[in-house]
Amino acid sequence: MARYRRLSKALTNYISFKEDERGAIKKPISRPSSISVKKNIWDLIGKVVIIAEKPKAARRIVEALSYKTKPKLYRSNGVPYWIIRSSALELYVVPSAGHLFGLYTSKWGYPTFTYEWRPLYEIDKKSSYTRKFINLLSKICREANYYINACDYDIEGSVIGYMIIKYFGDPHRSLRAKFSSLTPYELRKAFTQLTDLDWNMVEAGLCRHELDWIWGINVSRALMDSIKTVSGKRLILSAGRVQTPTLKYVVENEVERYLFIPLPQYSISATIIVDGERYTLEYKGDSIETRNEAEALVKSIKDKKYLKVVDYKEEYWNINPPPPFNLGDLQAEAARIYGFSPYKTQSIAEQLYLNAYISYPRTNSQKLPKDLNYRSILNNIAKIYQYNSLVKQLLAETKGVLKPVEGPKEDPAHPAIYPTGIIPKGLKSDEQKIYDLIVRRFLAVFAYKAKIVHKIAYFKPLSRSPEILFTLSGKEIVEEGWYKYYPFHRPSEKYIPKFKIGQLVSLYRVSVRKSYTKPPDKLSKIRILKWMENSQIGTEATRARIIEILFSRRYLASKSGKVNVTDLGLAVIEVLDEYFNELTSIELTRKFENYMEQIRFGRMSRDRVIVEARNTLEKLIREFNAKKKEVGLKLSWRLKLLTPNNKCRLCHREEYMNGLCRYHYSAFTKITEFYKEWKRREGVSWEEYIKALKSFRNTGKWIKEVLESMSHSMGPK
Ligand code: ZN
Repeated sequence: MARYRRLSKALTNYISFKEDERGAIKKPISRPSSISVKKNIWDLIGKVVIIAEKPKAARRIVEALSYKTKPKLYRSNGVPYWIIRSSALELYVVPSAGHLFGLYTSKWGYPTFTYEWRPLYEIDKKSSYTRKFINLLSKICREANYYINACDYDIEGSVIGYMIIKYFGDPHRSLRAKFSSLTPYELRKAFTQLTDLDWNMVEAGLCRHELDWIWGINVSRALMDSIKTVSGKRLILSAGRVQTPTLKYVVENEVERYLFIPLPQYSISATIIVDGERYTLEYKGDSIETRNEAEALVKSIKDKKYLKVVDYKEEYWNINPPPPFNLGDLQAEAARIYGFSPYKTQSIAEQLYLNAYISYPRTNSQKLPKDLNYRSILNNIAKIYQYNSLVKQLLAETKGVLKPVEGPKEDPAHPAIYPTGIIPKGLKSDEQKIYDLIVRRFLAVFAYKAKIVHKIAYFKPLSRSPEILFTLSGKEIVEEGWYKYYPFHRPSEKYIPKFKIGQLVSLYRVSVRKSYTKPPDKLSKIRILKWMENSQIGTEATRARIIEILFSRRYLASKSGKVNVTDLGLAVIEVLDEYFNELTSIELTRKFENYMEQIRFGRMSRDRVIVEARNTLEKLIREFNAKKKEVGLKLSWRLKLLTPNNKCRLCHREEYMNGLCRYHYSAFTKITEFYKEWKRREGVSWEEYIKALKSFRNTGKWIKEVLESMSHSMGPK
């Protein structure tokens, strides 16, 4: 029972951190002045509690710190913890299970800005497993002399450790261990160079949690309430600060595809014969807009026997190795090469990190640490059979001068991802693939440039013929360079002969080549992630998870690796865009991301950011409430909770014009509009045009639905 008394006492202590009714923050967390003890763990005296982010990380820390004395393993309710005893020192190494605390409000309705931190198991049934960790930590932290936050060194890890110390320990007697990999060497170094708690990271992390919470709960409640007011139904809907602009990006792409009409376009292709081999040349002049123009050009050169080489160029390009991996680049490569989702790649990388095989993966950096012993890592990697000869070759080629290329991106907390040199045991096939990418990329950054020759030849028909310039291009690898180590960027080669200016080549055949314009590519998870990265929303740690949330909320669905927007996703974005427009805009999200970055560098305070977010939300919600009925009605129609008086004759959506919803109406207008261009280019009749559109795979879904419903007499003659 003592531990529960302890817990409730900790909770009472914590009230000082709670907000008042109006939600204004009473005071920021108080930062103790440096505890000015010696920052080497072996100089500490008494009971020291070391908090690790996960049990596996705790084990690595124990292995690293127990070289002086043997650790003892204990278990409490299945949770392992260790005690290392040395003369005047007792080290307790205790794991967390990621976040143990979350934000909670007992208030109903919206807007609400009153919240407090509570143990997660009290808030969320799915987190009941965190209870045994809380019980253990509350017990062990009692009467300790010092606390060390040894969670992952990023804003999440800083918050996880801080919350535990805040509840059960004492931030005034706490230190931080900072490391980028779980190798014994780096961990030992971190524990002899302890620092004060990283308050800026803690503040930035708390801010992110609070922002996401007030944003999510208020917008979600507003949406759900609008539906309930109109239809009387309770439905779970969610929106989020980063989630919603991301969903909008996917919706916009999908709408463009659904409304896509391919247009015919023309080029002229010619086949020549050189030394018995055939090569195909192409001419894509801006002047060829219609089929007639293309056919006239072909006719004018059809009887020519030769083409003349008017220019021939060879260009040698040096291709630098790519920079070492940050998480986004690793996720992109794993998606491109193996089709892994960003979330899968991140999870695998985290396991590799917890096993100390690679450095910390949630990094944005494309730079390796200057003081890293590259040589010793390479020597260790050479002990792995499949890399043995590659490493030997690399050391021979570079004569042992190891200077890595770097990319421009940086991360204040961590370097780029690199293999630690600890030899992996028993990797599963997918883990092996990710590890292999990281090792090969690491080798490539030290290697020489690759060299490629680009060849291009230009041809013209002889004498008074029209201005046609055919091109033929080729590409060959001259020097393999870093492709040897990281073959995944090796371009495909295309051989063409060397031509002389003025040379005549026999023309074998010439014809019109017709193609059709293409819709934007369907999005994949990795393209969504890359877009988030480029738009500077979310963080390395959160992006992949936010994308998964869009799927679990049924806003998106996945079909053979590609992303589809559901009716629900479309409806939510349409409504938010119309009535809550700043929420779907990436600018607002980016502004707050930037604020959090400023907090991390100590240039801005958390309260200022939260107060501004609160003001913004209050204004948005006032605007929303004024239109609550309209919103509720629209959402209820779209979610098929209510039937609109006038329905689209092709779908369940409400009528917008001429018996069609806004999407089918747009499709209808576009079909009529595009006919003019089709007629000009291809000279087709309305019936032929409709038939052609129906037959194309790339014709948009809504366009096809309208086409199916059209009688032939409907269109212009
Ligand atoms: Zn419709």
